[in-house]
Amino acid sequence: MTETNIIEKIQEQNVDFVNFWFVDIFGELHSVGIPSYSLTEEHFKNGLEKLDASSIRGFKSVNKSDMILLPDSTTFKILPPDYDDNKRKNARIFVELCEISDSVQTRYNRDSRGIVTKAVDELKNFGLTRAVWGPELEFFIFDKISLFPSPIGATQSYGGSGYSIESSEAPWTRGNASSRIDLKGGYYPAQPKDTLEGIRKDICDDMYKYFQIKVEAQHHEVATSGQCEINLLHDDTIISADNVVTVKNLVKVKSKKNGKVATFMPKPIYGDNASAMHMHQSVWNKEKNMMYDPNDKVAELSQLGRYYIGGLLDHADALCAISNPTTNSYKRLVPDFEAPVNVCWGIGNRSSAVRIPMYSRGSEKSKRVEYRVPDPTANIYLLEAALLLAGLDGIKNKKDPGDPVEENVYRLTPEQKRNYKIRSLPSTLRDALESLKSDLKFMEQTFTKDFLDTYISVKYVEHNAFAQTPTPWEVSMYIDV
Ligand code: GLN
Ligand code: MG
Ligand code: MG
Ligand code: MG
Repeated sequence: MTETNIIEKIQEQNVDFVNFWFVDIFGELHSVGIPSYSLTEEHFKNGLEKLDASSIRGFKSVNKSDMILLPDSTTFKILPPDYDDNKRKNARIFVELCEISDSVQTRYNRDSRGIVTKAVDELKNFGLTRAVWGPELEFFIFDKISLFPSPIGATQSYGGSGYSIESSEAPWTRGNASSRIDLKGGYYPAQPKDTLEGIRKDICDDMYKYFQIKVEAQHHEVATSGQCEINLLHDDTIISADNVVTVKNLVKVKSKKNGKVATFMPKPIYGDNASAMHMHQSVWNKEKNMMYDPNDKVAELSQLGRYYIGGLLDHADALCAISNPTTNSYKRLVPDFEAPVNVCWGIGNRSSAVRIPMYSRGSEKSKRVEYRVPDPTANIYLLEAALLLAGLDGIKNKKDPGDPVEENVYRLTPEQKRNYKIRSLPSTLRDALESLKSDLKFMEQTFTKDFLDTYISVKYVEHNAFAQTPTPWEVSMYIDV
């Protein structure tokens, strides 16, 4: 779309405001709304100088804070009515973050969308034309949320129209227990147990109607307390990442409109399942899925696909700093909740870090690798970039992932793990950051040293604050000791 066309489109559709969207280095969405009468062709050509980058965590210092927002016209979409209480018509557009250095306008090296664009270029330089992604988004929708949940782990109640974690009392101790399902009993319940079907369908409708984002399926997830899942249909790298940012925002906006609170924090409830963002991925050369080999008896997986997995597994610890970037992420990566804890791959195995879904059998179109480690606090742009670079490194250096493991790896003894050469994933954010520090060569050129140094140091501050803060659980456990 040319600059003139987009301005015409904005006028034709009577758009009142265009929200310029971008994420910070943690993937958090930021938005600045420009009245459409203020927008000119010039803005779409050279950008709009409208960002004090020093006010955004992880961006710039005050003395060099000016930045330019250059709209990517291909991402122009009208926003759903829930984005405005006063019936204004709003649109959104993703922008590239640019800065002027030596009088030349260049892409800011901490623009996450720019980083993944560079990773796709790497893929192309290697002779692969595209990568395709299918993210599975899990999240919780609560009726109300208490900022200070019970010291012994928040539990849920089934009163009202949905779920709440504000009660500190175990639900089975109250009322008529026969109407309740146990923890971890939430997988695919039908109405009336599933009270969130309506809101999920409303979200899916808006995804398609306003953003043309297609859904493969949506359902209630295993955790009883209002855990939801929406699977996005596969798409190319940057489109798919923009879609994840959009859907996460839409989920929060629509939940709020319904008087509820949505959260993408992985483990809000002790003892119940956590939220993941499994990433299905394949790499293509024009119309050929390079991960597919119908002659491979084990998984119909090509040698290239195996090496790609080898790269993911080899770098899994470092990748955790990107794929599982919060202190809460590590409360998910524990046994018995279908989240991975060990670095290995399997076919149907949901306890392993990488899986080749069985239902991709016999189909070149759907043959893919599912990386199960990430959770939805990951910055999707950085995540796709890092996974691609790890996979590419595996291909380039012919990294053998070994044989698939078909056992329940939660149950392996330390001795069996040693025999299988299976190691555990990092168990804290600090471990993940240490791993990234010692294994960043494979991504340094694309991410830049400046970006990685900043990311790691800000994340250390987060880890330290967490590690040094006495929690309600600790106080209740030790106050009287
Ligand atoms: N919630 C699980 C996880 O943390 C995944 C459950 C599933 O999708 N089967 O990875
Ligand atoms: Mg799923
Ligand atoms: Mg799931
Ligand atoms: Mg999955």
